[in-house]
Amino acid sequence: MVDSITGGRGSRAPHHRSWHSEEHTSHRAPRLRAAVLGANDGLLSTSSLLLGVVAASASREVLFATGVAALVSGAGSMAMGEYSSVSSQRDAEAADLAMEAEALAAHPRAELRELTENLKVNGVPDHLAVEVAEALTAHDALAAHAQLELGIQPDDLADPLEAAVASAISFALGAMVPILVVMTLAGDARAPGLVVSALVGLGALGAFGARLGGANMLRAAVRVLLGGAAAMTIAWLVGNLFNVSV
Ligand SMILES: [Zn+2]
Repeated sequence: MVDSITGGRGSRAPHHRSWHSEEHTSHRAPRLRAAVLGANDGLLSTSSLLLGVVAASASREVLFATGVAALVSGAGSMAMGEYSSVSSQRDAEAADLAMEAEALAAHPRAELRELTENLKVNGVPDHLAVEVAEALTAHDALAAHAQLELGIQPDDLADPLEAAVASAISFALGAMVPILVVMTLAGDARAPGLVVSALVGLGALGAFGARLGGANMLRAAVRVLLGGAAAMTIAWLVGNLFNVSV
């Protein structure tokens, strides 16, 4: 029973576990924010594209093919971009950790002093700092330095594959909204349906994203709505330039 609760981290002391799970919530916010951005991208780019194609008066089949192509290519490009950006971030963090491990092996006394100073800066009283630094060093010196100096959790580095899959999925979910709209609505209802669903979705995602980042929800929603409206207006105008009956 105890084993299933600690989930493979059984060797850790209880106080370390609660510290870790507290860190974890702050680690998840950027991931969730990336997912919101992915959904935002999928919703706006696919809505704008379909709006342009609707303006050029395309058939239901063409709209469906266009929407699916936008979903697949967009999700693929999001996944690629996210994979390479998270990979380089992870490489940089791994290099930082290796440098820190080298320093710890080469100059353990200087590193202990550095950790002590770091604890003092973070509010640990002078008379306790040495003792705390020694205890942290004895327990897991690299983890202590990584967390206090680099802000990195050595056993919880961002996973490029996980990030790639998450942003592809969120892009696809966002892109599905306008595809469903053009498939369920007919003729003249399509364009207003695309605009309204995109604006409602963008406003909601903008507000949610702002809430995650602790920013003003209304201001974020308005900013996203204005940007979305501008993008769709341009798409509509361009689509009208190519007004051809298919
Ligand atoms: Zn250090």
